[in-house]
Amino acid sequence: MTADDRSGGRLEVIAGPMFAGKTEELVRRVHRAQVARRGVLVVAHELDTRSGPGRVASHSGLEMPSRSVRDAEEIPGLVAEGTELVAVDEAQFFGPDLVGVVTALADTGLVVVVAGLSVTFDGRAFAPLPELMSVAESVTKLTAVCAVCGRDAAFHVRLEATPADDDALAPTSGHVGGSESYEARCRQHRAG
Ligand code: ADP
Ligand code: MG
Repeated sequence: MTADDRSGGRLEVIAGPMFAGKTEELVRRVHRAQVARRGVLVVAHELDTRSGPGRVASHSGLEMPSRSVRDAEEIPGLVAEGTELVAVDEAQFFGPDLVGVVTALADTGLVVVVAGLSVTFDGRAFAPLPELMSVAESVTKLTAVCAVCGRDAAFHVRLEATPADDDALAPTSGHVGGSESYEARCRQHRAG
């Protein structure tokens, strides 16, 4: 590969709390690359069980075929001849090894788009997103909608499940972030 072949390489990070639209944005960028007839590889982690193996899926039902891997080191082996864009969803599942792997891929000239949680349910920085954000060409930090007040939510919380709460936690409960047992919250409503 010549230096010119490598010149298009870049790392794009899409970060935020749950429900922020990270997967939707990842799928949008992959779709645009497909429209441009670029070879794409979409990677999910085996631990990502929302859509089952072989798909990435958003909370709103957008889906896209993907390859599931157990760890970051498996990703380079999936990059076929002609691949120009590699998309990785739920980056937080991969741990710190992802940083070196996606950096090496971008160094070879690939566009690498990585989406993941930048914050834990108790409001702490979630590795490896902070490190990925620091070495990326572009960072898109998204917010969700606070399930309590509707303001921008940079956080999500885990709802404590008690038997009495079972109905409130059901996907049909009407909570703004009603699926699973997490809710997007703004700064004011993240505690209580
Ligand atoms: P992420 O990957 O960041 O968790 P997704 O792309 O899977 O987010 O889902 C985003 C979609 O989730 C939104 O377009 C909307 O339809 C839905 N949604 C459900 N609850 C919320 C919320 N509290 N804030 C924003 N979007 C929400
Ligand atoms: Mg997602």
